[in-house]
Parts: sequence; structure tokens; C-alpha cells
Amino acid sequence: GKWVYSFGAGKAEGGAGDVEHLGGKGANLAEMAGLGLPVPPGLTIVTDACTHFYAHGRTLPEEMKGEVLAGLNRIESETGRYFGSAKNPLLLSVRSGARTSMPGMMDTVLNLGLNDETVVGLAHSAGDARFAWDSYRRFIQMYGDVVLGIEHEMFEEILDHEKGRFGHELDTELTADEWKHVTALYKQLIEDELGEPFPQEPEVQLWGAVAAVFASWMNARAITYRQLHNIPGHWGTAVNIQAMVFGNLGSSSATGVAFTRNPSTGERALYGEFLVNAQGEDVVAGIRTPQSLSEKARLESGSDKPSMEKLMPKAFAEFTAICDRLETHYRDMQDVEFTIERGKLWMLQTRSGKRTTKAAMKIAVDMVAEGLIDEDDAVSRIEPSSLDQLLHPTIDPRMAREVIGSGLPASPGAATGEIVFTAEDAVTAREEGRKVILVRMETSPEDIHGMHAAEAILTTRGGMTSHAAVVARGMGIPCVTGAGSMRVDLRNGVLLGIGVKLKKGDIITIDGSSGQVLQGAVPMLQPELSGDFAKLMQWADRTRRMTVRTNADTPGDARAARSFGAEGIGLCRTEHMFFEGERIHVMREMILAEDEAGRRAALDKLLPMQRSDFTELFTIMHGLPVTIRLLDPPLHEFLPKTAKEIAEVATAMGLEPRALAQRIEALHEFNPMLGHRGCRLAISYPEIAEMQARAIFEAAVAAGLETGAPVVPEIMVPLVGLRSELDYVKGVIDRVASEVMREGALEISYLVGTMIELPRAAIRAHVIAEAAEFFSFGTNDLTQTTFGMSRDDASAFLPTYQRKGIIERDPFISLDFDGVGELIRIAAERGRQTRPDMKLGICGEHGGDPASIHFCEDVGLDYVSCSPFRVPIARLSAAQATI
Ligand code: PEP
Ligand code: MG
Repeated sequence: GKWVYSFGAGKAEGGAGDVEHLGGKGANLAEMAGLGLPVPPGLTIVTDACTHFYAHGRTLPEEMKGEVLAGLNRIESETGRYFGSAKNPLLLSVRSGARTSMPGMMDTVLNLGLNDETVVGLAHSAGDARFAWDSYRRFIQMYGDVVLGIEHEMFEEILDHEKGRFGHELDTELTADEWKHVTALYKQLIEDELGEPFPQEPEVQLWGAVAAVFASWMNARAITYRQLHNIPGHWGTAVNIQAMVFGNLGSSSATGVAFTRNPSTGERALYGEFLVNAQGEDVVAGIRTPQSLSEKARLESGSDKPSMEKLMPKAFAEFTAICDRLETHYRDMQDVEFTIERGKLWMLQTRSGKRTTKAAMKIAVDMVAEGLIDEDDAVSRIEPSSLDQLLHPTIDPRMAREVIGSGLPASPGAATGEIVFTAEDAVTAREEGRKVILVRMETSPEDIHGMHAAEAILTTRGGMTSHAAVVARGMGIPCVTGAGSMRVDLRNGVLLGIGVKLKKGDIITIDGSSGQVLQGAVPMLQPELSGDFAKLMQWADRTRRMTVRTNADTPGDARAARSFGAEGIGLCRTEHMFFEGERIHVMREMILAEDEAGRRAALDKLLPMQRSDFTELFTIMHGLPVTIRLLDPPLHEFLPKTAKEIAEVATAMGLEPRALAQRIEALHEFNPMLGHRGCRLAISYPEIAEMQARAIFEAAVAAGLETGAPVVPEIMVPLVGLRSELDYVKGVIDRVASEVMREGALEISYLVGTMIELPRAAIRAHVIAEAAEFFSFGTNDLTQTTFGMSRDDASAFLPTYQRKGIIERDPFISLDFDGVGELIRIAAERGRQTRPDMKLGICGEHGGDPASIHFCEDVGLDYVSCSPFRVPIARLSAAQATI
């Protein structure tokens, strides 16, 4: 195949569509070059070369080298500079670029091609010896670190020492000769460490750098990042080799990063930072404080440093025009990097910009209004699971704020937690179930684990595009960066704020929307789901075919779910209504009763409670379907466990503790999940089903009177495997229905259906459908029974399965399409053979999982049902599944 793709000067091999081979960065560089934008000429080595590298003992394919050298010739003729030339040397940047961006995870080498001879040529051609020697020492340092494996700090130590000796404070104060001296020491360091001199041959340098970039695909932090973001390891990275352009060639040079819209709020305004006389990574590293791009942004930030608009009006005008062009071309907000070399603008990167959910929604809605995209595009643009971010609480504005510091509002939302100063402490605390705020001077890719474990992140340094800010926005956790009024004193383990000294474990609150840091815990408010959110949801609702119901057992859940747009209840787990307060005692009385009379006595007490619960649910959900499931308790969940509990229950029931203990012993099951639960309970003790059916019908009548509209309850029988099981329980329900109708001399409509949560039920669906008026797939149990993996014990071995590549995803979270999914297909098909118009739904956890929802659409289910907070996610996913 072809290993190398070239781009530059208005033309390019490949483009934005070739992400798989060229990586994101390479594909978009090619695209920009093809559009005629000013991109330094270069070439991309395809991701297949990375695969080859690992398949062949970490070596580079020979034909690839030939293609790279041919590509370099093209770069030479375009730039008029020559690789290795002592007079007019071409310098290269060598960067990674995977299919999706993995910011800061892999390695980069800049200024490649410099050696003892070419540095002189560079000094001459640039007319700046100081710049040339500074570049050379940067190159040795980077190459030494990335390719030769010599720690960055060892170079920094030399530099610090020499700066002291020369009496300088800043790097910018060193002269050409002083840099030359530092360069000699750097080379000596390498020779001392490796027993070999620093490689002078540019081609050797080049292959070394390319191999190092490929090798960095497998470094620990890249692997962690891929795990966290579900990026497959076999993708590999591409390598981009480009002619260097310099932002550090004096005061008419600069380098910067920008988003074409505000990535935090979505506002349509150029958003970013730049640094005069600086090289590439300086902005992202957050070492110097960057300047605003536009005058407007400068005024808003109150900075007294001049903006790019003011300092370099021509480059600024060209830059904003390019940003506009890129937005219309890609029809999306872009995140770009640029460099200005002696007044000439160069574009180094463009990609679709990461953004908060709030910004994503505003941008999508705005772009529809601007005519850039249509409503379906807008709906597709929002990552459903990111809607979680919106459900983040914010600080109640009516409460007094005890501000102890402030910084930049880098990622929205508010969170409270204990202070920890290291990523390790954050992870440990998380494992212990404590909520923490990770407080750092700044973060680096090594901290990723800890950032994930934290509720929020606070840094005392860095800007809106610092590592902490970018990563936190991506994760959707609140973040404040650059809180300059605060100090982290790591040695003493304290955080110094305005008038306070806090230590590890003290509670603070971060407001990522205002940038404030507050002492202690602060009351929070739930966000309002209006505006752009409401509009997008409206578009999603118009598009989707499936309805979205909720799993709700309490009036509170039901109300929350309605406010999130639930269109009914798909599952009310009646056993959950008995976990609380007094009720659990009566429930235990019922379970532990020795005989039918004892059970009926307990059931008589339960009836009014159930009736009023159901009446409330029916009233809240008026006009919408409500599915109520008969009792399905794995009994062990309700039995008293400790001696103290047993004594209490015994007293309440008027029993001897010893007699009770014996009864509990008798009810003991070896495998309660496969034990006396589900419809088995209703078959052993029909009086339970009778009571529930009565409560449901009486509540339907009562709610009907209250709301003035008829309620059609859907009664669901759990854990059915045999049609005869369903027939039996349905018989009880029908009998109670006619009793209630006779008593009240009225008509009640209702449906009786079943859960499909056993493989046998799925296979025999055509027969079960003769008795069932609807099916609801209970994919929690169906996964458990199909895999033969206990849903309560799988966490002991599933992570190992995933780590060892035996299974890709946790099947209890995301549906196993091939196995469990196949059973759903079979059941849906067979059920509809018997009863073509039967309603099919899903009510396992998968009903709120985007990938599983796509599957449900595919199989043609009528609805999904999920927990209240996932309802918006399900509405959006269901819409996306149809687009
Ligand atoms: C299921 O099994 O998927 C289900 C919804 O029921 P439960 O989780 O209550 O067993
Ligand atoms: Mg179940």
C-alpha cells in the first residue's frame, strides 16, 4: 500500500474523510491544504505503519522510508529549504495524530534536523543566532527526552544552574553564546548518559523521532486514556511531519490556539489565547500568561496586555476569515492552532472542538438558525450520555457565598468535596466512597486517573485551555483554573485561600460556572431544562418513533420523570414501595407468616398503602400508561439479618426471636435470584396477587374519578417461563377485576402482560403471547439468565474479563446484541406472530443506554423505559437511532 500522503501549497493527497488512515490531525491538515489555506507543507505517515511497527518488532517499513524521503523533496522544493543543509536548513516537526484526538498523551518532536552545522545555517538564514541556538537546545532537550529517554528534569537542572551562573532569571535573557554553551552541556549530558553522542545525522534523527511517536502509542498514559475513552488499541497513530514555522522569531511572531465559538457557553465569538514570541507548546503548557485574541475579549477579561487584533491587525483579519471559512466548510465549531512567523499566518491544526453540553446545545441550535445544519443534524450532534452534565447542580444563588478564592470558570457546574492534593489520594478516596476536589498547581496527563475520581478540579495556575480545563470539560466535571489568589503548599499539605488555611480533608465547593472557590458545603439547585435543551428535545421528540417511559416506584420519581419528559411508567417495582419506614415491618410480617391466615392479616394492612400509592402514581401520570409489576422480591432482600433486627421484628410480630430465626432459616435460599420470586410467589401465595390486583383496580377507579379521565392499568407478571404460569396469575387478576367491577357496578379496562426475562420465555414467546397482551423485556434478568452470570456477583470477575479482552463491554450496562439481543429479536418476532399489535418494551437498565436504545429501535420495540434521570438521554438516543 501507500504509506505516505503529502499536503501543501493548495493541494493534498487525501482529506477530512481519511481519518482512519491519516489520523484526525493529518486528515484535517490535508483538508485545509486542499482548501488553499496557509498550511506548512508536510506529509502524513498512515496509521497502518504503526500497526506494522508493532507487528515487526518495533521497526519501520523500508518502503515507507523511501516514500517519506520523496515527500521531503516536495517540502524542500516548496519551502526552498533543504533537510540537512548547512546553508539553508529545513527543520521539521514530527507529531502524532490518532483517529480521535488524545491530547497530550503521545509524543512530539520539534526543530528536527538541527545539528552542529545546520544550527549555523539557521542562524544565518533567520538572521538571528540567538534564536538558532535556542532552537537547537530545545531540540536536543525534546529529542533527548522523547527519543533517547533522558529525563526532562536533567536538562532543566543544567539550564537552571547555568542561568544562575549567568545571573539571569528568565530564559529570554540568555544570549546566543550562552545558549550555545547550554547546548554543549546538553550534548555532554547525553553522551554521559548513553555512552554515545547526540545523533548529528538528520535522517537518523528523523527515523528515531518517527519510531518514538509510534512507541508513544503504547505508553502508560495513552493506554489509560484509551481505556477511559473506549478507543481501540489496534487503531494506532499516524505521524505528521511538517516544515517548521516559528512563532518565536521576535515580536512580529506569535503562536496561539482558538475555538471558533466559546466552548463553555457556545456563544458565537472567537475564543482563545496567543503568546508573542513563543513556540508551539508554550500556550498549552500554561507557563506564560497568554493574551486575548480580539479586543472585545481583552476588554471582557480586563487584561491590560494588548490583543492580537491590536498588535497584528493584518494577521488577525486573515485569521478570523479563515475561522469563518473553516466553520462553514466543516459545519461545526473548530478548535484551531496557529503560528505567526514574522507577520505571516500559518494554520497548524483544525478539528471539531470539544465543548460542554451546554455549549454543544447552543451551537447546534444556533447553527440551525444560521442555516449551516438542519434539525436532524443538530439532534445527532449531541452525545446523549453528555446530557448528564446538564443535570449537574448549581449553587443556590440565594445563599451567601464564603469566597476563599477565584479563578477562571473552566468547566461549568458546582461540586462539593474534601480537598486532596494528589491523583492517588483522589482515587483512594473515591474507592472509599468519599467525594473529593482535586487541588493542584496544574494538572498533567499523569493525573487523569485522579481527575476522573474527583467531583471537581481546582488549579492555581493555567488558563482556559490548560490541561485541567480541557480535560475537565471533556469529562463534564466542574473545574476552576488559574486561581492565582490561592496557593498550594504541597510540603505542608495546605491550601492557602483568602483568609484561610485549609488542609487535606477539609470541605470546599467549586463553582465552575463563576470560577469561585467557596469554603464548606453550599446548598445546590437543580438546573432548569429550558431554552436550547427544550428546543433540541422538541426536535428529537418529533423525530423519534419509540416512546420513552420511566421506571418509577415512588411519586417523587414519577414527578421527576414527567418533568424530564417521560411518557408513562414502564415499570413500577412494587416491592420497592415496601422498603421504607413502617412498611417493611408489614412486608416482613407477610413474608414470614406461617400460614395463609397470617399472610392475609398482613396483606389487609398492606392493601390501603398500595391503593394510595397507586392512586398517586395514576394521578401524577394521568393520561399516560402505567405498568405495574406484581411483587418480585428475591426474599432475602426483605428478611432481617442481624440478631438485633431479628429481635425487633420478633417483637413487632409478637413472636419469640428463636421461632422467628427458625422461620428465617426455613426460608433461606441458596440462590435467591433463581429462587422463590417473580410469578412463583403469586402461584404459591395467590392472596398476594389478589391484594395487589385489588389495590391497582381500586386505585384506577379512584384516580379516574380524581382526574376525570379513565386510567388503563397495565399489570405485568414477572419471571414467567411457562405459559401456564401466566395463565394462572392472569386468572387471579381477572377474577379480582370482575369482583371490583361488580362491587362498584362499573367497567374497568386493563391489560395483563408479562416480562420476558428468561430464555425459555423468549423462545416460547409465540405461545406466551396467547395469554400476554404485552411484553416488556427485563434485560437485567435476561442477561443474568442468558449468561448464567449472577447480576449481583459479576462485578467480581467482569473487570478482569474486560482487562483480558474476553468481553468488550459489561453486558449488564450495554446490551449483548449477539446473545441476549438475539433472544429479544426472537421473542419480538414470535410474540408478534401470535399477536401482531402487541406492545413491546424494555425496562431493564439497558433502556437508558444509548447503544442498547439503538438496538431496540432496530428490533422495532414500541418503547424503552429507564430511570428518571436517563429519560432525556433516552429521548435523544431514540431520535438518533432513527436518523
Ligand atoms: C429486569 O430484570 O430487567 C427487570 C427490569 O427487573 P428487575 O431488575 O426488577 O429484576
Ligand atoms: Mg427482573
